[in-house]
Amino acid sequence: MIRVENLHRHFGGFRAVDGATLEIRKGSITGLIGPNGAGKSTLFNVIAGRLPPTSGRVVMDGEDVTGLPPHELFAKGLLRTFQIAHEFGSMTVRENLMMVPAMQSGETLWNAWFNRGRVAREEAAIRAKADEVLEFLTISHIADLKAGQISGGQKKLVELGRTMMVDAKIVFLDEVGAGVNRTLLNTIGDAILRLNKERGYTFCVIEHDMDFIARICDPVICMAEGKVLAQGTVDEVKNDERVIEAYLGT
Ligand code: ADP
Ligand code: MG
Repeated sequence: MIRVENLHRHFGGFRAVDGATLEIRKGSITGLIGPNGAGKSTLFNVIAGRLPPTSGRVVMDGEDVTGLPPHELFAKGLLRTFQIAHEFGSMTVRENLMMVPAMQSGETLWNAWFNRGRVAREEAAIRAKADEVLEFLTISHIADLKAGQISGGQKKLVELGRTMMVDAKIVFLDEVGAGVNRTLLNTIGDAILRLNKERGYTFCVIEHDMDFIARICDPVICMAEGKVLAQGTVDEVKNDERVIEAYLGT
C-alpha cells in the first residue's frame, strides 16, 4: 500500500532519515521501532506531507505521492493522528470528532473550528457518526466533556477516533502509548485490532512498549540512525544482532 524508496530527510548536515526503504503491506498493522532519534517521527512527517523530503519517493497504491500537502493525502485516506491542539480543548470530545470531515475537505483547522456551528447545524449525520465512533471506542461517557479536561489516554483514543470520522485507508500512529496507563493502552490496542479486522484499516504504529507491539503488530520494522535495520516478526526483529546492537548503543 505504501512504498518508501531511498528516502532522505536532512536537517542541515544531519541525516535524520538516511536512505530508508520500506513497504507497508495493505491490511497489515506494521510496527515501527527503534531507539530515540532513529528518525521514526521524521519519516512519518515526510510520508504524511508535513515535511518535504530531501530526496527519495513515497508511493501509495502505485501513485507517487511524495511531497503532497497533508490535506491531499488526507483526502486519499492517508491519516496521521495529531494531538488535540490547545485551542480545541474548550470544545467537547464530540465536537472534536465532528469537525474532522470539514478538515478533510481542505479547510484549515481554524475554519473548521470557526464553522463548527455550521457543521453542527447542517450535519446531523456527522453527529450520529461521532456518537457511533465514541461507542466503538467505549468512551461514550466522555462525549460531552471538554477535550481539555480528559486524561492523556482518553485523548489518544479521541485522536484515533478522529481517523474514524472519514474514510481512512492507512493510519500512522506516533507513540500512541506514551504516558497511557496499561488499561487504556489495552483499549487502544483492541480498537486498532478491530479497525484493522472489521474496517480494513492498514496501520503503521510507532511505539516503545514492546508488549503492545508484540500483541498487535506484524511485521515490525526497526530503524536506527535514519536507516532500516531489520524487518520481520517481532521475535525475528528482537533477536536480530544489528537491532540489539542499535539499542545497546544508545
Ligand atoms: P525518533 O522519532 O525516532 O525518536 P526523530 O525523527 O524525532 O526520531 O528525530 C531524528 C533525529 O532528527 C533526532 O536526532 C532529532 O534531533 C533530529 N531532528 C528531528 N527534527 C528536527 C528538526 N526539525 N531540525 C533539526 N533536527 C531535527
Ligand atoms: Mg519520535
